[in-house]
Formats: sequence, C-alpha cells, structure tokens
Amino acid sequence: MTMHTLFSRFGRFASEHPASHDEKVAAPKALDLRGRIALMDEFENTGLRWFWATDEEGLLTYLSHNAAEQLGTDEANMLGQKLTSLFTLDYEGNIDGVQRPLGFLMSARHTIADLPVKVAIDGHEVWWRVSGKPVSDAAGEFRGYRGSAKDITALRESQIDASRLAQFDALTGLSNRHRMTKRLTSTLNAYRMAKRSCAVMMLDLDRFKQVNDTLGHPAGDELLKQVAQRLETVIRNKGEIGRPGGDEFQIMLPDIDDRGTLGEIGSRVIQMISQPYSIDGSRAIIGTSIGIAIAPYDGLETEELVSAADLALYAAKGGGRGQFRFYSSELKDGANLRRQIEEGLRDALASGTIDLHYQPLVRTANHTASGFEALMRWNHPERGWISPAQFIPVAEDTGIIGNLGEWALMRGCQDAATWPGDLRVAVNISAVQFASDDLPRIVERALQASGLAPNRLELEITESIFLGDPHATHVMFRDLKAIGVRLALDNFGTGYSSLGYLKDAPFDKIKIDQSFIRGATEQGNNNAALITAIVSLAEALDMETVAEGVESLDELSLVTDLGTSHVQGFVFASALAQAEVLSRLEEGQLAYQPVGPAKHRAGRRTLYRKVGIIHEDHRYEGVLRNLSRTGAMVEGLLDVPTGTQLVLDMGEGQLAVSTVRRSNEAVQGLEFETPLVDDGAGGLCTRHRISPYALAAAGMPLAALPSGHYPLDQAANGPAPSGRPKFLQVELSSLSNSPR
Ligand code: C2E
Ligand code: MG
Repeated sequence: MTMHTLFSRFGRFASEHPASHDEKVAAPKALDLRGRIALMDEFENTGLRWFWATDEEGLLTYLSHNAAEQLGTDEANMLGQKLTSLFTLDYEGNIDGVQRPLGFLMSARHTIADLPVKVAIDGHEVWWRVSGKPVSDAAGEFRGYRGSAKDITALRESQIDASRLAQFDALTGLSNRHRMTKRLTSTLNAYRMAKRSCAVMMLDLDRFKQVNDTLGHPAGDELLKQVAQRLETVIRNKGEIGRPGGDEFQIMLPDIDDRGTLGEIGSRVIQMISQPYSIDGSRAIIGTSIGIAIAPYDGLETEELVSAADLALYAAKGGGRGQFRFYSSELKDGANLRRQIEEGLRDALASGTIDLHYQPLVRTANHTASGFEALMRWNHPERGWISPAQFIPVAEDTGIIGNLGEWALMRGCQDAATWPGDLRVAVNISAVQFASDDLPRIVERALQASGLAPNRLELEITESIFLGDPHATHVMFRDLKAIGVRLALDNFGTGYSSLGYLKDAPFDKIKIDQSFIRGATEQGNNNAALITAIVSLAEALDMETVAEGVESLDELSLVTDLGTSHVQGFVFASALAQAEVLSRLEEGQLAYQPVGPAKHRAGRRTLYRKVGIIHEDHRYEGVLRNLSRTGAMVEGLLDVPTGTQLVLDMGEGQLAVSTVRRSNEAVQGLEFETPLVDDGAGGLCTRHRISPYALAAAGMPLAALPSGHYPLDQAANGPAPSGRPKFLQVELSSLSNSPR
C-alpha cells in the first residue's frame, strides 16, 4: 500500500483538510494532491518515519512498506491485524519514564505522543517510537487512528549506554552514587508507607591510599575490583552494593533492623576485605571501617540516614579502624570532639597542655621496672583529659604527628636521662613517622640533646609499618639499628599479624596486645595457647616479651606461667607524671606490688550511666552499675523481689525486657530476655529498638530516634510517670558515681 491508497481510503479526511491555508498563501506553485502524495511516498521511502492507520477497532488499514519490511512481511499481510499486536509492550526497559501502554491510549482514544514500543520481532530487539491521533468523520464519529512511527533502536541503545554510565561505576560495575541515592530514596519512600526498615552501611577502605601510592594506580583499580567482588560474595541478594567514589562503598540492606544480624554482616565484610590480595604478583593488605545506620530509627530520609552512617563510619575509623560502628546520637558529640581536637592540637604543644606520662614495664621474674613507656596526655582546655587513642589518629591525619612525635622523642629522652641506672624509656612511633626519612636524624638529635645512651631508648612500632614499601622499611630498620636504639613491636596480635615479620625484622621486644590477655584466663579461650606460641618464638629469636594491659591477679599469674618476660598494666601501675616517677625512684622503689581484682570478670563492663527502669506503668530513674550480654546490675529501687519483670530503658529506644534475679537493698541483678549484641565500639546494644513507627502511632511525630530515654508510657499514654510507684526510689545523687 502506498500513501496514495491510504489517502483514497481516507478520502473524506483528505478533502476535509485541503491544506487551504497553504493553497491560499502560495496558490500558483502549490502541489496538487497527487504531487503531495508522491512527496509523502518519497518521504516514506527514506525510512525516516513510517505511517500507519487503523480503523475504529484498532485494526491496521495502512502500514508503510518499509515498516512491514522491517517486520519481515508484506504490508498486505499486516492489514486487518491489530496495531498493538505488532509490539510487545515491555515498559520495564522504558528509559523514557512511565507512560501508559499503547492499547490503553487507543481504547481511551487518547493522542499517542512519542511512545516507545518494543517491536515483536524474533531474534533481535527493535524499538519504535509511535505517535498518532484519533480521527473523526464529518459527523464527529470516531473513525480510527492515523499516525507515524520511527525506528529508535540505535538511539535507545546509546541512551541506555549513557544512562548505564550515569548510573554505574565503570570500574567495578557497582551502582554509582547517583543510582544508590535514587534507589535508597525510592526504597525509603516506599518503606515509610509500609512501616518497613532499611539499613545502610558506609565503608571506607583503610590503607587503600598506601597501596595506591606504593603499587601504583592500576593496582589500586584492580584492588577496588577485587573488593567489589568480595562484597558481592558476602552480600549476595541481601542488599545492593554501590561505590559512591574513591575507596568508599555503600550497601543498602532492606528489611534488616536487627543489630545482631547487621553486626554479623559487618564483621564478615571486615573479615573478607582484610584477607590478603594478590595483585599482579604483589601482595596487598587493606582493611575497612564500616558505619551503619538504620531507617526509621536513625533517619527517615536518604540524606539523614546516609549522614548518620557517615558519622558512624567516621567514629569507626577514629576507633582504631577495622571496626564497624552503629550510629547513635552520641556520635554527633564525637564528631564535635574531633573538630575540637583538630582545632586545638596545633596549639597544644605550644601552650604546654600536652604532657608525657610514664607507665612501668615490669619484669615478671622479680616485679622490678626495667623501664617506662612514654604515653601522651592532653589536658584540653574545654574537654579535659583526652586520650591519645583519640588524638593520635587525628594528628596522623592532619600531619601534626611529625611535630608531636618529635617532641615526644625529645622530651622522653630528656626525662629518661634523669632516671637512675639503665632504666629505659619506650617512645611510641607512629607509622607516619616511620615512613619519613627524617626519623633517624630526629632520633639522633633527641639522644644527643639529652645525652641518653642509645640502648636506653626503645622505639615502639606497630605492625602497620609492614604494609609500606618493604625496601624503605628495611632501610629504616638498618639506620635505626645503626644508631643503637632498641625496637619493640607494639600491639602484636592486632591487625595483620604475621609471625613471618618477626623473623626478618630486628626487634628486641614483642608487646603482646591486651586483647590477647583479655579473655586468656577464660575457659575454652585459646589466647593462652597463642601467647605460648608467641613467647617461644620470641625466645628462639632472642626477643623479650611484654604482656600488655594486665589488670587482674589471675591474668598476672597466667602470663607469668606462660613465660612472658615483662608485664605492663594497671595491676602494677598506670602511667604517672615525671615528677611522681622521680619521687618514687628517689625513694629507691623499683619494685612494684601487684594490686588488682583477683579475677578479670569477663564481659562485664563497669558503667555508671543513668537508665530508666520501667515497672508496670511506672518509670523510675536508676544507675547502670555493669552490663553484660545477658544481664545488668542496676541501682535505684529498694527491695525489688526476685522474679519481678522490669524493662530497662537504656536510651535511644533501647528497651530490654528483664527479670530480677538477685536483689540486695537498692541493687538488683537483672537477666535479659534477649541477650544484647556488640555495638562495634567495644560496648553492647539491644538488637532492636522501639520503632519510630510505634512512637508515631502513639502520637509522637514520626522522626528518627532522638537521644534520651523512651518511657513506654509516655509514648502510649502521655507524660510519664502515669502509674503509682510500687517501689521506693533511692535518691540518685546519693549513689556513688565514681568509676574506677
Ligand atoms: P599503646 O602503645 O598500646 O599503649 C598502651 C595503652 O594501654 C595506654 O593507653 C595505656 O594507658 C593502656 N594501658 C596500660 N595498662 C593497661 C591496663 O592494664 N588496662 C587497660 N585497659 N589499658 C592499659 P593510652 O595511654 O590511652 O594510649 C593509647 C595509645 O595511644 C597507645 O597505645 C599508643 O598507640 C598511642 N600513643 C600514646 N602516646 C603516644 C605517643 O607519644 N606517640 C604515638 N605515636 N602514639 C602514642
Ligand atoms: Mg605502645
């Protein structure tokens, strides 16, 4: 069929629209109808666009020759077929957004405007863009459709490519930031209606930059690909993984709000990422830190939730890396603290608010000190004492560690030079300092300035230095040993421990990390066997061993039995100011008496935190004395009978249903119905929290959980307390409030 036949079929239509306007404007040159039809025929033959027409039933009354040809048939065969039967209306692949299907538009007699449709052709995918209008006769009767179509297959493919590029990360094939944000937003919107939860994990690789710098960018790229694959192995169909950029990854986990499960996933991810990588024959080891936030508890909107997860990530990194951390509103305070640390650190040295304190390293054999470890102490003008575990990482990130480390060396050597005999000073050296070529010169200067004999200075180095350039590490070892200082491997057993490092590195001492000591006395724990192995290897290599962080008498006797040559820990002494060290030494007190609890109580954390204790419909104020996975000791109510059911409100929607198991005046031992889980920060948290949906149902506005306590009755029945108290509340101020 040609345009000519079409027009004769629709003769009435043609004569109704005689293009009178054109004819009037350019009457002498105007084509006649035949000429115009010929023109249309030519246009049709170019294949740029095709024409079609249907009758009232949607059955084809016309189809351009080229169109029929593309369908692999003759146009005569197509006549009488339903137009819609030419297409498989698959809108999933519709990249133009949501549109109504063709069949719907035609039955409703709507205009069809540039509708992309998939043509029913076997073997390959062809897409047309179809337009058309309903036509009526003179009497206004609907007579069918007339329209055109165009092949958009190639255009569509390039659009899809472009949109894929815009949505996926070209390196790993994971969703990019744009797509993750879109996916998260649509999920959160839908889930809010359905009162469902969704967790987000933010990951940041630890030491990725080091690999990139030492092995090169192509190796860095390869590493990122392998990380993506490992993440996919762990996450599988539990969620969606994205790479927002750099060495950051994001995981969306719909319908998971159990913090026990999330913690397990987090630990598994950390474990997988921390296994060694092989990249073009080189070995690389990285780690990852993870921040976790859960909707609706920690945020309802994408931005709120992602920034909560980011804050948790930040805290995880600050907490020593290789950790996961759940968001809690306390972290906001942590972020403020970090800002304050960053701001204050530069002036801290100049203003004299940073000091060195000294903790004795005690010989196991006779409990005398062989030396002291120099530990930085910072008395922040507003914050009070800040732990070096908090400010050293900031100093490393901001580069201040260079000055700070140099100062510690100078000061440590000066102080040690005033100690009698051959007492040594151990100074911590950050991996950042170790990577600087200046270190040997700085060490020499500190020794010269103080007059301290080199063998009285011990440098404590962590295993992370082995992740740097092996040649540079070797040269640094050689130069430091040439000066005559001693080297100690600090925190052995954390991170990337490899006994292989010990064999080739010139260490004089191994410090066994306190995480090995902790728990070693528990039954069924294999730390003791590991300590034995480390001790015998150290002896074979002629190195001393220090058990770090020994707190209790049972730990002391265990590490003594296992043969560690030295002990450092609160069982002997914590770090003291130079003046106190000197006065002790002047009195000739080199021996230390072990003092401490007989046993280290496993899993008990001593806390002095205010909590809510809910009984029936009354809420009391209490103090949390200690907390373990399975229970807590609380103080605040008088004479609560054993067997009483209570709900412990630990804040931020954390409620633990408990039974009183022991009761002694104002102190109760509670057993939890559901054990607590790790919060990633060395603490514990409830698996579940009261849902903001439940609070909203009870009349509170739907929002992320703010900090503070959640009296059940407040949520349900208005201001607490609402019931009559059954027990006598002890004045909280009368409870002692001093931690160890
Ligand atoms: P570290 O080198 O592992 O130091 C031992 C840490 O364990 C010290 O924490 C010490 O106070 C603590 N400790 C000692 N005995 C016990 C115990 O029985 N129980 C417990 N729970 N802890 C005990 P501190 O002083 O907070 O230092 C933390 C970390 O900060 C140090 O860990 C070290 O890595 C770093 N640091 C401290 N001073 C410096 C410094 O001058 N330079 C560098 N680069 N890092 C430093
Ligand atoms: Mg140390």
